[in-house]
Amino acid sequence: MVKKLITPLQKVLLQRRLCPACTRSLDKARLLESRANGTNIVECECTRVFVYDKDLDTFRRALQEEL
Ligand SMILES: [Zn+2]
Repeated sequence: MVKKLITPLQKVLLQRRLCPACTRSLDKARLLESRANGTNIVECECTRVFVYDKDLDTFRRALQEEL
């Protein structure tokens, strides 16, 4: 059975600025949008979308309502 949870491994990959799905560097992800609230919306080559928080210098998965 497949569980749809964020696994510890995925968390570690994000902390290392790597895409949890394909492990490409998120620093090389395509910038979709730079928002006024201090976040960037970036798209990995595997089409997954992430939010980069400039203040915290961290990546996380984008929520549906943020797209
Ligand atoms: Zn990816």
